[in-house]
Amino acid sequence: MSSKILIIEDEEKIARFVELELGYEGYTTKKAFDGRTGLELAETGEFDLILLDVMLPQLSGMEVLRRIRRTSSVPIIMLTARDSVMDKVSGLDSGASDYITKPFAIEELLARIRTALRKSIPEELVLSASGLQLDTGRRTVTMMGIPIDLTKREFDLLHYLLKNKGLVISRETLLENVWGFDFSGETNAVDVYVRFLRGKIDEVFDTKLIHTVRGVGYVIKDEK
Ligand code: CA
Repeated sequence: MSSKILIIEDEEKIARFVELELGYEGYTTKKAFDGRTGLELAETGEFDLILLDVMLPQLSGMEVLRRIRRTSSVPIIMLTARDSVMDKVSGLDSGASDYITKPFAIEELLARIRTALRKSIPEELVLSASGLQLDTGRRTVTMMGIPIDLTKREFDLLHYLLKNKGLVISRETLLENVWGFDFSGETNAVDVYVRFLRGKIDEVFDTKLIHTVRGVGYVIKDEK
């Protein structure tokens, strides 16, 4: 899925140029030419990143930044015409992720967008429950810091259950999402792999991570 970027910039030539370039890179974009409209769009929460001009009609870029930050931690890159220290300081205080001074080279803007988007992901890269941590980027699993060695299938099953922590997932859903096309017809595959996981986690660390909900499926819950 492509990232959605909101461009809040009253200089329409710049806004159109940036929109065109971001389109080439595969991003989906929306434009706003004043602060008020920009804020309204930002508050829908549908954007992965916001490019925000400092000097805007109706509501200044700084004010838009402050109001977005009341409710959202979406990455925001400020576009400023002046490379003034004051702008930078007050913007960073208000929670801007980064700055770029106009006129900028599009390659530099693209690089900063990539960086800001990468930084905003890590929280979701590591999933956890009851002392267990699963790092989706490194594909590692630890319990209270101690590494657990899992096969690919065990990892994928644990990943799916953790991603849906607190929800009871049926065997059918697990087969569909974890086994997918590889699934060769053994309906008890899920139970077998849950047993493997319990053997490597619950039995070793004396925990109860994966719960069976009779007749329904499995669920991972945080231990209270
Ligand atoms: Ca402006």
